[in-house]
Amino acid sequence: MKFDLHCHSHFSDGILSPEMLVSRAKEREVNVLALTDHDTIAGLFLAQQAADECGIILINGIEFSSQWGKGGVHIVGLGLKLESQSLKDAIDHQNHARVCRADQIASRLAKAGIAGALEGAQAIAGEAVVGRPHFAQYLVNIGAVNNINSAFKKYLGAGKSADVKYQWPDMPTVVNWIHAAGGVAVLAHPCKYDLTRTKMCALIKDFTQASGDALEVISGMQASAITDDLAGIAAVNNLASSCGSDFHSPNQPWQDLGNFSNLPARCKPVWQLLGFAA
Ligand code: MN
Ligand code: MN
Ligand code: MN
Repeated sequence: MKFDLHCHSHFSDGILSPEMLVSRAKEREVNVLALTDHDTIAGLFLAQQAADECGIILINGIEFSSQWGKGGVHIVGLGLKLESQSLKDAIDHQNHARVCRADQIASRLAKAGIAGALEGAQAIAGEAVVGRPHFAQYLVNIGAVNNINSAFKKYLGAGKSADVKYQWPDMPTVVNWIHAAGGVAVLAHPCKYDLTRTKMCALIKDFTQASGDALEVISGMQASAITDDLAGIAAVNNLASSCGSDFHSPNQPWQDLGNFSNLPARCKPVWQLLGFAA
C-alpha cells in the first residue's frame, strides 16, 4: 500500500482541482491519499467523490499554520470528522487571520500608491484565500513591477513597505483543534523551517509536549540520511511517522504524488493511528 498523506489542490496553493489530483494519484499508484490544503477543507467533498469513483481511499486532511517562536510551522491534521464544530471554528479563525493580513497588505500598498490591490488580488485568487502570491501577481498585471520576484523585492518581501507578518495560534491550540475534530496531528516537513538541527529538535520536543502525535519523517524526495535522522528523532519523542509528497504542481517532479521512499521499518506508521493495519 502506498500512502501519500500530504498534498494540495487549487482550494489552497496547489494548481490541480481535487478531481485531477485524485486521478493523478491513482495513475501514480497511490492507494491512500490525504488532501491537506492550507487551513481549508473546501476541496474534500469533490476529492471524496472522485476517490469513490476511481477506488482510492481518501483521508480527510488539512494543513494548519501555527506559530513557534518568531516563525511559522505547519501542522497537518489527518482523519478529521468534517462535521466537527471545532474544526469549523478553527478554519474560521485561520481565515480571519488571513483576511486581516490581506486587508493590511492592501492598505500598505494603497499608501505606496497602488490602488485596488485587495479586489485585484481576490480576483486572481479565485476560490483560494488571498495571499501574497496573489498580490504579487496583481502588481505584475498592472505593470507596477516586471515580475513576481520584483513584487516581493519591492513591496511584499521581508522588511518592505507591504510586509505584514501573520500571528498564528500556538502548537497546543492547533493540536487541540485537530484532536477535537477526531484527527491525528502531524508536524509537517521539519527540515523546511530553516532551523539548525538543535532548534529543529527543540521544535519537535515542543510539538510532542503539545500532545502532537506524529512527525512527517518523509516529505517528498529526500536524502536517506535525513530520513534516518528524522526516524530516530520520532522514536526518541515517541511520535508516529508520516510520509507525503507535499504535492502542489505537476511542474515540481521532486514532490510529485507518491514520489518518495517507504518509511524505514523501525518507524511506527501514522496510519496505524488512523485505523489501517499495515
Ligand atoms: Mn503550500
Ligand atoms: Mn507546509
Ligand atoms: Mn503542504
